[in-house]
Amino acid sequence: MGARVALESDPPLTKPEDSPSSFLIPRQEIVQVHPMPAIKIEKIVRSRRRTIALEVTPRATLIVRAPHRVSQAQIDTLVREKSAWIVKKFDEVKQRPQAIVHDYAEGEVFWFLGREYPLHFVNDGSSSICRTDRLFVPLAFQPDIRHHIRRWYVGEAGKEIRSRCMYFSMMTGYSPESVRISDARQRWGSCTSRGGLNFSWRLIQAPLDIVDYVIVHELVHLRQMDHSPLFWKKVAALMPDYERRRMWLRENERLLRV
Ligand SMILES: [Zn+2]
Repeated sequence: MGARVALESDPPLTKPEDSPSSFLIPRQEIVQVHPMPAIKIEKIVRSRRRTIALEVTPRATLIVRAPHRVSQAQIDTLVREKSAWIVKKFDEVKQRPQAIVHDYAEGEVFWFLGREYPLHFVNDGSSSICRTDRLFVPLAFQPDIRHHIRRWYVGEAGKEIRSRCMYFSMMTGYSPESVRISDARQRWGSCTSRGGLNFSWRLIQAPLDIVDYVIVHELVHLRQMDHSPLFWKKVAALMPDYERRRMWLRENERLLRV
């Protein structure tokens, strides 16, 4: 107890007078042998919270959540103190799976509710996409295939998400005014001030337990519009393992961002 431990981020102890050629080296280089990377704060969110929280976003940027009374200087100091941790998190985020770029070739894999479906072109006169063990797509769709597959995803996402939403509405008593399927790339779900819920069609690529988490998250927003501790308490009451699902979404979200 009470012993001072040198942190990894502490500048190394250098005594310029020990080095005979020190005056030839610019001073800055002696003091900062391991220069601290400058960490840019993307945004500071002030609220009635009591502690400062540092959040590394999936885009490898930093969001600071702070109480109203905390000064900019205090925030800067904390960010500096935690810079080793922040840089480590930035590296982790950058190593996560990258977004899939489809080229819509025969055999290429498409995700639906967490499963892989290889694309297979059919020339049997059918006029719609069909999913069994593969994703059967009429050859006639080929010139505009991106549009057709996207439209299929939107339709399927609408059916699945609406039915899951109805199920959780019955369980929770929280019922949305409307459920819409959006084209959002980053926001898997959102809640309007008029009580409508929006879900990105891209979400339907994720496993069902992840889809369910986003639905429950948005349903709770109907009663609790913020991300306060009370909000998370309500989510946990409905879905005790929500943290695991939330992590999955964070780590794999680039996979969904087709
Ligand atoms: Zn939310």
